[in-house]
Amino acid sequence: MDYFPMFAAVRDQPCLVVGGGEVAVRKVRQLRRAGARVTVNAPEIRAELQAQADRGELLIIAGDFRPELVPDHLLIIAATSDHEVNHAVAAAARDAQRFCNVVDDGDACSFILPSVIDRSPLILAISTGGQAPMVARMLRQQIETWLPERVADLARWVGRWRERVATRVPAGRERLRFWQDTLDGAPAEQVLAGREAAADQLLQQRLSGAPQKPVGEAWLVGAGPGDPGLLTRRAQFLLQRADSVLYDRLVAAEILDLARRDAELICVGKQGGGPSTDQADINRELVRRVRRGERVCRLKGGDPFVFGRGGEEMQALAEAGLPFQAVPGVTAASGCSAYAGIPLTHRGMAEGVSFVTGHRAPGAAETNWTPLVQSGHTLVIYMGGRRVAALCEDLQAHGKAAATPAALVEQGTTRDQRVTGGTLANLPGRLQDVRTPALLVVGDVAGLAGQLQWFEAEPPTSQAAI
Ligand code: SAH
Repeated sequence: MDYFPMFAAVRDQPCLVVGGGEVAVRKVRQLRRAGARVTVNAPEIRAELQAQADRGELLIIAGDFRPELVPDHLLIIAATSDHEVNHAVAAAARDAQRFCNVVDDGDACSFILPSVIDRSPLILAISTGGQAPMVARMLRQQIETWLPERVADLARWVGRWRERVATRVPAGRERLRFWQDTLDGAPAEQVLAGREAAADQLLQQRLSGAPQKPVGEAWLVGAGPGDPGLLTRRAQFLLQRADSVLYDRLVAAEILDLARRDAELICVGKQGGGPSTDQADINRELVRRVRRGERVCRLKGGDPFVFGRGGEEMQALAEAGLPFQAVPGVTAASGCSAYAGIPLTHRGMAEGVSFVTGHRAPGAAETNWTPLVQSGHTLVIYMGGRRVAALCEDLQAHGKAAATPAALVEQGTTRDQRVTGGTLANLPGRLQDVRTPALLVVGDVAGLAGQLQWFEAEPPTSQAAI
């Protein structure tokens, strides 16, 4: 983080704007909206500013920039069109240790101004660290459309109840849950519908009820294959509510960042493919936490029900009589095929697709390839990244033609995605240092990757043209 985000209390505080043109007018307006006591220092002053000064709303000091004004002001904004003057302002502010913003000159700023959504008391500030204000603006527009209509009323309403709730509901998890339930439930809906009296009544009832023990629940959530953009909205919603998150190593850090700041994050280390000696421990941990009232997000790579052992974890919860929900995720086969340009089914090429595991537990029976090697069928092999050569041989031994197209997608959907194409005969020879997780796709559709490639991983690292 290159900047420390904060909201400054400038009400009744002296703030200096150097410059009297159009940009200065805008900055004065922003400062005054927050209640600042504004002084404008410039040789030429727009009529609009002069009118405000005449009404006693701001002070004008006409003439060239006067450095001696700087130490008497909390914030300084240099808004002239003269580069040298702006720099002189920045230098004076540096000497006096005052925060200074220089319009359109990020390097000279000691604070920068974000793009703002003002639904006071709710204020949303978005910044790209001065690098791309237009991106911040674009996001602001998107967020504006997504914010509930009366969200400011909701913030005010919560503010009005906050102290009363604090005296009645013990701090910590219980109070957090009280507010989450209020905001997820009927009281917030009433406020957002403009019926505050009804909302007050509902909250009053909840406050006078007997204290309730928090009820735990487990959420088995698929985190998708890697790209955080592939997370579902439901997954994101629950992730932000969980008291604790038990996650697999495959889950991206950006996704974990979405968890509540005070949520406990526990890596349970499963990566798929390895012997899962710890599955029983994970089940026990889930049950233990839910039983003591936690809302636990069990976050899994891809989809929890595709080679994710989600079913076993749910069985453990069901046997313990505990509540749970499952949230599907984009499984690696869908994610990797989309990002590698390999349609899993394709008219005239593949009428079906099978997801199989390429991992063989010690002592496990041989994979029965016979129903899987039929033509016109795509085979997606999970957990086979380290055994590509053996798998390609097995498939040929069971009747798949040596010329059948095959592709290995390593770290699919991420910036490091690498797709290597070939045939069952030559693919193993084209691979070096396979990076996991990796997914093997076998079938005619794998041959389309060259034509349908669209996703450019950064930096491009394709091993071989397909
Ligand atoms: N539940 C997961 C699969 C877990 S098994 C899902 O639905 O995707 C782990 C295997 O998934 C890995 O060995 C690999 O074969 C595959 N996999 C998961 N993420 C992947 C990715 N980003 N790129 C390629 N393969 C991936």
